[in-house]
Amino acid sequence: MRRSAGALRHNLARARAFAPGRRVWAVIKAEGYGHGMEWAAAALAGHADGFSVSCIEEALALRESGTAAPILVLQGPRTAADWERCARHDLQPVLHDEQQLGMLAGFRGELPGLWVKLDTGMHRLGFAPMKAQALFEQLRDHPAARRGLHWLTHLACADQTAHPQNAEQLDRFSHAVAELPGHRSLANSALVMSGGAARPSRTEWIRPGIMLYGPSPMEGEVGPERDLRPVMTVTAPLIAVKRLEPGACVGYGATWTADRQTRAGVVAMGYADGYPRHAPTGTPVLVQGRECPVIGRVSMDMLEIDLTGVPDAIVGDTVTLWGEGLPVERIAEAAGTISYELLTRVAGRLRVIDID
Ligand SMILES: *Cc1c(COP(=O)(O)O)cnc(C)c1O
Repeated sequence: MRRSAGALRHNLARARAFAPGRRVWAVIKAEGYGHGMEWAAAALAGHADGFSVSCIEEALALRESGTAAPILVLQGPRTAADWERCARHDLQPVLHDEQQLGMLAGFRGELPGLWVKLDTGMHRLGFAPMKAQALFEQLRDHPAARRGLHWLTHLACADQTAHPQNAEQLDRFSHAVAELPGHRSLANSALVMSGGAARPSRTEWIRPGIMLYGPSPMEGEVGPERDLRPVMTVTAPLIAVKRLEPGACVGYGATWTADRQTRAGVVAMGYADGYPRHAPTGTPVLVQGRECPVIGRVSMDMLEIDLTGVPDAIVGDTVTLWGEGLPVERIAEAAGTISYELLTRVAGRLRVIDID
């Protein structure tokens, strides 16, 4: 796996261009979407205004690795001790349910910021919007909120620009917090890219994740169409080349049969490396810059491809599974999943090469 810090910074600049004047929580949860959380934080140090992770454990690992920037913890504290950790390590937790609110009663620590999450329609995390005013009154004098009580929500359908739920959620949110002080944060990558974050509002923090790594989250498009560059490129060597006679079957289950003489290649990449096992025959890979289809089932450590289009391919050639020249969105679509899943599942056994 090759990863490019330059591409990561380029994509952050693209996020800023989509949402001028906003501050950026660069979302680096889930091991920086599979690229390495600490690597991503180091690459974006001084470029992002802060980092966003899911849980306290991720935030503590970031602090331990020397990240001094603000950190937003999306799932917030789970225990009373977590609230203390937030104070000690200067973390900005998200408060999203009654249980957490109860623990806050016994906590007197100061936080650099406390973010209240409102559930405007996704029905995952958050308080009902009608509670915002009461929460504000309950929390305004609490030491945890003294340095800032802020508001966020998350959209369920931002990747479908025309979905009616987008406007509904945005309206519920702006209505709920209209009279309240504090910063707001609404936009994931999809809302940033659809222009939703450029609407005038109070100090807003955007929360781009996937777009920083190159893929577009928008339905039916790929990152390069929006001048996003792939940060991760996954390659593997061609380890065997062979001629298949008509009638020869390939792989487990013998699901693919040659209907003519076929030059086939075996690539040292399988589902144990994070390549999706459900990628069907026809899923593209790149050999010498040309697309070749996967044939048969993906194995644990190998997959097989039809080399008809690249007659001079030889053992030792580098095969690109996704990344530079082959957007991961295309592989995700073929395998019936999303780019997020493929990126976050690359295996630890892949050798990592850093480029700028
Ligand atoms: C993961 C996450 C994001 C980033 O979403 P992308 O689609 O990757 O841009 C933003 N906000 C919240 C609450 C998240 O959980």
